[in-house]
Amino acid sequence: MVVLGSAGGLPAATGRGGRKDGVGRIGDRRNTDAMATRDRLTKIRKILRRTYPDVKTQLAHDGPFQLLIATILSAQCTDRQVNRVTGPLFQELGTPAKLAAAPLKQIEGFIRATGFFRNKARNIKRCAQALVEAHGGDVPADLAALTRLPGVGRKTANVVLGAAFGIPGVVVDTHVARIAQRLGLTAHSHPVRIEFDLMALMPRSDWSDFCLRLIYFGRETCSARKPRCPSCPLRRHCPWPDKTSIHP
Ligand code: SF4
Repeated sequence: MVVLGSAGGLPAATGRGGRKDGVGRIGDRRNTDAMATRDRLTKIRKILRRTYPDVKTQLAHDGPFQLLIATILSAQCTDRQVNRVTGPLFQELGTPAKLAAAPLKQIEGFIRATGFFRNKARNIKRCAQALVEAHGGDVPADLAALTRLPGVGRKTANVVLGAAFGIPGVVVDTHVARIAQRLGLTAHSHPVRIEFDLMALMPRSDWSDFCLRLIYFGRETCSARKPRCPSCPLRRHCPWPDKTSIHP
C-alpha cells in the first residue's frame, strides 16, 4: 500500500533500530506514515458518518438486475438523468430476458439522453444476454463473475455487490478518486490502485458506506472545481484546507 506520508502531518521516523544503509529507517517511516494515515481516516470516517448518517445509492431500481443496468448507464451521466430514462426502460424491458431479446434500436431510443447511448445500448443488451445464458437470468453476487459481464467493471460490480447484496466493496467513482487524493489517502490516480489503498486503510464493514458518504460529500462540499473549504467539516484533517475560499 502506498499512502502520502506528508499528508498526515507526520513526525519524522526516529530511525532507531534501522540498518546503517537506511533501509530499516525507510521501512519504519512507511509504517509510521501508514498508521498516521489510518488514524486520520478514522477521524474523517467519524465526521462523515455524523454528517451523512443514512446513505444509499441514488439510482432508482427494483432488484439487482435493474441496479446493474442503471449503474452501467450512469457512466459519464448524472444519477438524476439515469433515473429519468430507467423508469420507461424498466417498465418495458425490466427483466434480463426482455432486455436481451429487445432490438438494439428500441434500447437506444430509451437511453439516448444518458450519452454514449449506442455503446451503452450494446453493453446492456449483451450483459442481459450473458445473464440469461450463463446465470439463468440472475445477477451473480460475486466480483469475478460480475466483471466478466459485458460493460461491467470493478466500479459497477462493487456498486451492485454493496447495494443489492450487502457485500462491502470500495466504489471508486470520480468523487471518491478526487477526494481520496485531496485527503492524502492515496498517491495513485488509477481507480483500481485507489480502491486497494482505501481497502487497506479501513475495516471492510465500512467500505461501501464510506464511499457513498464521499460521493455525497463530493457533490455538496468538495466539488471538483469549487471546493467549499472554509465550511468543510474535514478541513482540520485535509492537507489542502485552503484550496479555495468559496463560502456556502
Ligand atoms: S478542506 Fe477543501 S479540499 Fe480539503 S476536503 Fe474540505 S473542501 Fe475538500
